[in-house]
Amino acid sequence: MSAQTTNDTSVFNQLNIFAHQKVVFCNDVATGLKAIIAIHDTTLGPALGGTRMWPYKTENDALQDVLRLSRSMTYKAAITGLNLGGGSAVIIGDSRKDKTEALLRMFGKFVKNLNGEYITAEDVGTNTRDMEYIRMETEHVSGLPESIGGSGDPGPVAARGVFMGIKGCLKELYGNDTLTGKSIAVQGTGQVGEHLVRLLRDENAKVYVSDIDEDRLRQVAKKYGAEAVEHNSIFDLDVDIYAPCALGATINTQTINRLKCAIIAGSANSQLEDEQVHGKMLLEKGILYAPDYVINAGGLINMYSEIAGFNKKRTLQLTENIYDAIRNVLKLSKAENISTILAANKIAEKRIADIKKIKTSY
Ligand code: NAD
Repeated sequence: MSAQTTNDTSVFNQLNIFAHQKVVFCNDVATGLKAIIAIHDTTLGPALGGTRMWPYKTENDALQDVLRLSRSMTYKAAITGLNLGGGSAVIIGDSRKDKTEALLRMFGKFVKNLNGEYITAEDVGTNTRDMEYIRMETEHVSGLPESIGGSGDPGPVAARGVFMGIKGCLKELYGNDTLTGKSIAVQGTGQVGEHLVRLLRDENAKVYVSDIDEDRLRQVAKKYGAEAVEHNSIFDLDVDIYAPCALGATINTQTINRLKCAIIAGSANSQLEDEQVHGKMLLEKGILYAPDYVINAGGLINMYSEIAGFNKKRTLQLTENIYDAIRNVLKLSKAENISTILAANKIAEKRIADIKKIKTSY
């Protein structure tokens, strides 16, 4: 699974960088569907991951995104202890203009043709209604509404996982995991951010919130007694914890120089602009970073529960395990003096390698 860095942008070469198993290009003239499904690794189980609909500037941008997303799903499932592989899909197009029932159902047919090797779910630009259309063509969909037997909104479960991850970080750093008296800046008050703010305020943490949606920001701040701040100033706050719960790549050279926190722990995917460079910068600056795919696994656990037939109680129990998962990552990072993201990758890769051995031993 080791990565080779190269400037060669040919398709097969890009697939080799993270050793992707399979990539399917889906094209349908009648519906205008142009999609890519990437299956990174199925050692642990079927590849589960969302379908993102985005107006990518180039086809190569779409390919790179789906390769990156599917690989991170492999790692997320592996470190969370789930029997799932990693996969993702992207549909090239503007979800506000180009999305139709026919396009989504055509996409569903492509998913069906993979016979369960890939299970799809929602992501940026797709929603539960879209999953219902895809479900009309294939059973290999997760994240359906509760009203039709699905696991429902993953937001509260994802928030619970982030909350447990924050506590795991506190325990490692201070020897106890209490949030009382701690200050935390939550960037993004959406599906996950709002529930996280609620959990933090329930434990009397001092919470600052930012959002580019001013109405939402005001509503959430008022409802939970948090302090609203201007979204550009979130990186300058003198807080214990920064919780990125909006978009990815908010942790980069510029922001690391501004951050004063001791811990970064939030739900956003792909938080580090560059895994190697910024993981190392955080290690050197002494900021404890909870790797995104470990701390935000609650959403995946929620979807897995739908496939495995778990009830809510079991789903929450698995989500609570994020506390220990984060602590294990931090321990390895400390023991080997490596960035926390590298430590997480090592743990995930070891589980996959160990299970691969069992699979080939008889
Ligand atoms: P969401 O779209 O509901 O909320 C995101 C919020 O961030 C919005 O309110 C948006 O206005 C705000 N925002 C965007 N740019 C911002 C900026 N620069 N500064 C401040 N606020 C900004 O999304 P969500 O479902 O809450 O997910 C948040 C993040 O967590 C995403 O990166 C997502 O991929 C990740 N995630 C979500 C889940 C889940 O179950 N929803 C699970 C795992 C990971």
